[in-house]
Amino acid sequence: MTTEFVSKENLTDDVLRRAGEIIRRGGLIVFPTETVYGLGADALDAEAAKKIYAAKGRPSDNPLIVHVASPADAEKYAEVNDTFMRLAKAFMPGPLTVILPKKDCIPTTVTGGLDSVGIRCPEHPVARKFIAAAGVPIAAPSANLSGKPSPTRAEHIRRDLDGKVDMILDGGACRVGLESTIVKVEKGHLTLLRPGGVTLEMLRALFDDVSVAEAVTDKLPEGARPLSPGMQYRHYAPDAPLYLIGGSDEKRRAYFSAADSDTVLLVFDEEKDLFPTHRVILIGSERDPEAQAKRLFAALLEANASGAKKLLAPLPEKRGLSLALYNRMIRAAAHNIITL
Ligand code: AMP
Ligand code: MG
Repeated sequence: MTTEFVSKENLTDDVLRRAGEIIRRGGLIVFPTETVYGLGADALDAEAAKKIYAAKGRPSDNPLIVHVASPADAEKYAEVNDTFMRLAKAFMPGPLTVILPKKDCIPTTVTGGLDSVGIRCPEHPVARKFIAAAGVPIAAPSANLSGKPSPTRAEHIRRDLDGKVDMILDGGACRVGLESTIVKVEKGHLTLLRPGGVTLEMLRALFDDVSVAEAVTDKLPEGARPLSPGMQYRHYAPDAPLYLIGGSDEKRRAYFSAADSDTVLLVFDEEKDLFPTHRVILIGSERDPEAQAKRLFAALLEANASGAKKLLAPLPEKRGLSLALYNRMIRAAAHNIITL
């Protein structure tokens, strides 16, 4: 298949209408959101959803998130409740996915066989126009090959999906840069399944009862099934082994300096000149987790392309937006943490 690439300047209403038609005919469209790029198909069409799994090489039990143009559309596809309404009012449109019991119109192909469905209303204007133009909900995982870092720029996608999708819409760099926060709502109780742009602290400011799924911060015992199926898969991992180094900045910098010269270091912008004998990849300012989130996946892709034998990076903190960085990094590092 030939993939049509539409640059940011050419993203007219007419193109979005055409993208909507492609979706209704069962095709695949890559579109920008504020989190990462999505690989979308008609969420009501099981055959179209199967094409997503095939294009990504994604295991069929790893569910797709269903994207809607407006939070009010959620009730067409899921059993909504008061907790959902409160979440929607506070955080939608935005980087939040809510897991609810699904309605029959959503095929189990989309939900990886589960009877629940993840609903998200993205905030990105191109995403919203595209979903509205399609006139159907859009099932979409991140637009990368399964296991690779999620794409935050259109050029990342070409390498993975050129020839496998009908169209790629370039919306520029994604604002958040990490996949959506996922929460499960059950009997008024919230469980955080994946941290993201909507932080645990933001959820706890609104709800008394928010727990954190074990897989967010810890390695599950062999054979255990996480609440969020995607959390069990190897993810984001570069080819070279990555180690996360915890402890004081001083000790970590000394450890970095002492590494073999073919080790590539992921360092904060402020540390750029501290390791003259090593190749460094910048991961954003130390004081700016938002910038780090935006950079994370591009930095991992760069690290992978560097030909490093080994990679070292600082261990993120487990609070605020950094909890989301922690969650992605421990996966990329296969839980290799060294605390000094
Ligand atoms: P991706 O869009 O590639 O970030 O993947 C979406 C993630 O959402 C998957 O890895 C799942 O873990 C999670 N997810 C989607 N739907 C559900 C659901 N019904 N129950 C639990 N987790 C879900
Ligand atoms: Mg993904």
